[in-house]
Amino acid sequence: MTDPKFEQLRERLAEIDDLRKAATLLFWDQRVKMPPNGAPARAEALATVSRLAQERFVSDDIGRLLDDLRGLEESSDYDSFEASLIRVTRRDYEKATRVPPELVGEMRRAATLALAAWGPAKQESNFEALRPHLETNLELRHRYVGCFEPAEETYDVLLDDYEPNMKTAEVREIFMELKEELLPLVEEIGEAGAIDDSVVRSNFEPGKQRELGLEIVRRLGYTDEEWRLDETPHPFMSSPGAGDIRLTTTYRPNDLSSLFAMMHEFGHGVYEWGVDPSLARTPLGSGVSLGLHESQSRTWENLVGRSRSFWRFFYPRLQEIFSEQLGSVDEETFYRAINRVHPSLIRIDADEVTYNMHIILRFELEQELIENRLAVRDLPEAWNARMEEYLGVEVPDDARGVLQDMHWAGGSLGYFPTYSLGNVMSVQIWERAVEDLGDLDQRFERGEFGELREWLREHLYRLGRKFTPQETIERVTGSRIDAKPYLRYLREKLAPQHA
Ligand code: ZN
Repeated sequence: MTDPKFEQLRERLAEIDDLRKAATLLFWDQRVKMPPNGAPARAEALATVSRLAQERFVSDDIGRLLDDLRGLEESSDYDSFEASLIRVTRRDYEKATRVPPELVGEMRRAATLALAAWGPAKQESNFEALRPHLETNLELRHRYVGCFEPAEETYDVLLDDYEPNMKTAEVREIFMELKEELLPLVEEIGEAGAIDDSVVRSNFEPGKQRELGLEIVRRLGYTDEEWRLDETPHPFMSSPGAGDIRLTTTYRPNDLSSLFAMMHEFGHGVYEWGVDPSLARTPLGSGVSLGLHESQSRTWENLVGRSRSFWRFFYPRLQEIFSEQLGSVDEETFYRAINRVHPSLIRIDADEVTYNMHIILRFELEQELIENRLAVRDLPEAWNARMEEYLGVEVPDDARGVLQDMHWAGGSLGYFPTYSLGNVMSVQIWERAVEDLGDLDQRFERGEFGELREWLREHLYRLGRKFTPQETIERVTGSRIDAKPYLRYLREKLAPQHA
């Protein structure tokens, strides 16, 4: 017997989800298909659809239904669909109703303007052109934080939007542990001398990259019935509905990064693909947090896609496709080249080890900004000093420094740490999978990835947003977030080949 109030809530949420999915599709189309002059009209359409979804969600009706359903929630099993839907919706609702719609609108407008300024500012390496926009974004974030109960740290409120329930202090502790271990590792590897990776910096025809990339993701689980692949300058994954997973990638003619970008986005896609179909058209029907999402993109990109056993299977095919460039390069040389650790300027091109230092730097600067310990105008100097300190890299200009990422222009403060949290969790989850499945390398060498995918689906993807990120990681691994497995993995994988 279903509770009629619960059915009412479910119907409302399904409509709201449809509107959000429509917005997702409008956004996907904007980035993939739309001619440039469609931008102003599209901005209006997107704003309208998003506003309708938001208005419906924060309505008094939803609040009343949530109140009426307290009894059902308490009498239902914590894991049940009913209790989970009411619990998660209540949390979302309580957050959403605290922020006045005018402030939401102002933040969106400011971010749109700042993003429009970011492109040219980066192009001309002109921080001053972006500075006023960043100051506005920061001031709006202060107002946003003011909408919530005072937290232990101001940054907690921002972080919660991307990694719900996670506290700044907990992230800081994990990052301190990473820093302590990774700074000496970077130095150790640096002293051993750089690995030559010129074999993967050659001419690789984009059409052939696409062909091989598709062969790879098909082996991992991509099918033409449920997935598609397009080209955009910044790769992303989008899922405008169940059974509809869209990846994009970018093909650089001088390296093979598209293959890893495709596996990365596949990881985001397969998480969405694996959510229990019964959660579709509810707020539970997607990945639970950016950190856990990133744990899966990094799993498929790095733990699978940069492993020896993976290339034992795919390297002959790669050699066949690019025989001129790689025909006479042995597998080990190739493997070392794609796993080279080398401090560099750009986060998105960084290796598995130094990547985390790029994140820690941003995490620290964000806290200083929101706590008014650092002025926006002093940001470039602080950035450059810390790049020197952490990676020994001298930043030649702001385009390759503080202006490289779009996140701050887009108003996303508190987002960056989720990348490294994802790295950390990826290995915790991986170790549990290996405990259950046994040696994965033998399967990868035969081109078999289905068992890993199905294990992840069963233990993680299926859950969607039913539980908090912390509950989710504990259910999957039996422990809280813990940096040790990840640090062990990095050292075991990457130190020997640089010795
Ligand atoms: Zn990602």
